[in-house]
Amino acid sequence: MNQIPGQPSEEARLRVKAKTKRLKRKLAIFRLSTFFCLILIVALAVGLGISTAKTSQQIRQMQEQLTQTQKNIEEKDQLLQDAKTQNETLVKQKEEAEKKLEEANKQIEGYQNAGIPYKGPKVAYLTFDDGVSKNTEKILEILAKYDVKATFFPNWKEGNEELYKKIADGGHALGNHTASHDWKSVYSSLDGFINEVETLNDKIEAATGTRPTLFRFPGGSNNTIHRNYNKNIISPAIDYLNQKGITYIDWNVDSGDASSQTPLAPEKLTKNVLDTALRQSVILMHDTNAKPTTVEALPAIIEGLKERGYKFDVLSPDSNDSKVQFVKS
Ligand SMILES: [Zn+2]
Repeated sequence: MNQIPGQPSEEARLRVKAKTKRLKRKLAIFRLSTFFCLILIVALAVGLGISTAKTSQQIRQMQEQLTQTQKNIEEKDQLLQDAKTQNETLVKQKEEAEKKLEEANKQIEGYQNAGIPYKGPKVAYLTFDDGVSKNTEKILEILAKYDVKATFFPNWKEGNEELYKKIADGGHALGNHTASHDWKSVYSSLDGFINEVETLNDKIEAATGTRPTLFRFPGGSNNTIHRNYNKNIISPAIDYLNQKGITYIDWNVDSGDASSQTPLAPEKLTKNVLDTALRQSVILMHDTNAKPTTVEALPAIIEGLKERGYKFDVLSPDSNDSKVQFVKS
C-alpha cells in the first residue's frame, strides 16, 4: 500500500472509525441506562409517596381509634361512677329502711309491754278538758278546717251556753267533767260528787238538748288529790256512774299542756302527742284561757296524726277501743 506522506494510513483511519463506532455505542448505552435510571427513580418516588400517604392514613385511623377508645374509657368511667353513686344511695336507703323497721318493732314491743294489742285501725280521740273558754271557738274553727271531730269534757261556765251548743252542733261529743272542777266540792262526799255530775248534765242538756253519757274525773280516775278530802270516794263514785249509764274515760296520751303553770311551746306539745301516740289514742288536752299554746299546736298535732295514718273519732260509751280507764270499774 502506498502511503501518502503527512496523511494517516488507511489502517489508522479504520482504527479511528472503529473506535468512534465503539464510543457511539457506549454513549447510546449510557443514555439508555440514564433513562431507565430516571424512570426507576420516578417510580420509586411515586411508590414512596403512595406509601407515605398510606401510612399517614393509617396513623390518622389509629389516632381516631385511640380517641374513640379514650372516649369509651371515659364513658365506662362515668358508668362506673354512676353505679357507685347508685349503690351508695341504695345502701343509704337500706339503712334508713332498717332503722324504720327497728323503730316500728320497738313501738310494737312498747304496745305489747303496755298490754295494748297491736290491732285495729289507728284512731285518735282528741279530748279537751276544763272548757269552755275564750279558746273554745278557735279550737272549733281548727277542727272544722280539718274536718275532725273531738270530745269535750267541759265544766260549767255560766253565760256561755252558746259555746256548749256550738260544740254539740259541730258534731263533737260533749262529756261531763263536773260543774265546778273544785276538788273539795267534787271529792269530799258522794252526795257532793253526784251534785257536781248531775248539775252539769242538767245544764248541758238545757243548752244542747242532749244529756251527756260520758264522764272524766277531774285529775283522772287514779288521781291522788281526792285523798285530801275523802280517801274512799272513787269506788262509790264509779258505782254511781255505772248505775246511771255514764261511762268514765281517762286518757293514754298526754299532750302535757297541764304539766306546767306557764304554757309549754306548741312544738313541745306536738312532740309529746306524736312521740307517744298509740294505735288507739285518747289524747288529753285542755281548753282554758291559760293554755293558748294548745290551740297553736292543734294544727300540727292533727296534721302529724293524719300523716301517720290516723283517723279521728269522738269518744263513745259503746266503743271498747277508747275505753281507757286507769281505775277499772
Ligand atoms: Zn280537768
